[in-house]
Amino acid sequence: MDYARHFAIAPGQKVKLKDIDPGFRDKHENPESAAAEIAAHLDRLTKLQYTLYAEKAHSLLIVLQGIDAAGKDGVCRHVITAMNPQGCEVTGFKQPTPEERGHDFLWRVHKHAPELGRVSIFNRSHYEDVLVVRVHKLVPKETWQARYDHINAFERLLVDSGTTVLKFFLWISKEEQLARFKERLDDPARQWKISDSDYTERNYWDDYSAAYEEMLERCSTKHAPWFVIPSNHKWFRNLAVSSIIVDAMEGMKMQMPKPTVDLAAIRKAYHKAAQG
Ligand code: AMP
Ligand code: MG
Repeated sequence: MDYARHFAIAPGQKVKLKDIDPGFRDKHENPESAAAEIAAHLDRLTKLQYTLYAEKAHSLLIVLQGIDAAGKDGVCRHVITAMNPQGCEVTGFKQPTPEERGHDFLWRVHKHAPELGRVSIFNRSHYEDVLVVRVHKLVPKETWQARYDHINAFERLLVDSGTTVLKFFLWISKEEQLARFKERLDDPARQWKISDSDYTERNYWDDYSAAYEEMLERCSTKHAPWFVIPSNHKWFRNLAVSSIIVDAMEGMKMQMPKPTVDLAAIRKAYHKAAQG
């Protein structure tokens, strides 16, 4: 299945999250049946990132959004395993600091956009400024309403500068979120992830859904599409995300750069050195 086509939101498309099955897993019965495909994607990703890094003609920005426990950290870890850490950066966006609050909302984000040759992954992003900020009325409605246009213009600038922008909305059900909270409670290795806000935020599920829907409708553009990834199954989520990233990178038509040195002269020097 062409996951990019299947999960992309068309520009201006009305989105009803209730109608999207977060448990979707395509033809796969279980993680084992998807494992070979996932491994093949990661292998491709390693090679593609190597070329991206060498060529320095493109960059890639991956944006991850989703409710608490949707799997943003998991996707970061998954994608990163395929990459040379020298060529990528993961940035998690938390509550803005006083300094960040003193600037426009994109100021703290723009400086983490990837330079040519590099990959940036945003674990949360500038979209928080039309999500948590909207749900909790942290700024007046006119302020967050104006941000959709600012975001589209910002992403346009990145794309015009050589960045491919892929945005993944990880969609889990309310029941799945509760099950994951329970796992966190029961597993000492995951208890550090629990925050007080997990349960209070859950009470705003419908408000968040409305905010996500408007974000998807207004900010999925031809140049910077949103993908809604069914994420109740972590392995299917990884399969779909890695598949979409690989397809997008293959579409960049990258080439290894030509050597900057005169190879014939270097070969001569080598032979001379080898002969002692
Ligand atoms: P986590 O990603 O679980 O470490 O949590 C980060 C927290 O920071 C979440 O509760 C986000 O909603 C919050 N956050 C991120 N960006 C913003 C923002 N621009 N304004 C307010 N809260 C934010
Ligand atoms: Mg969290």
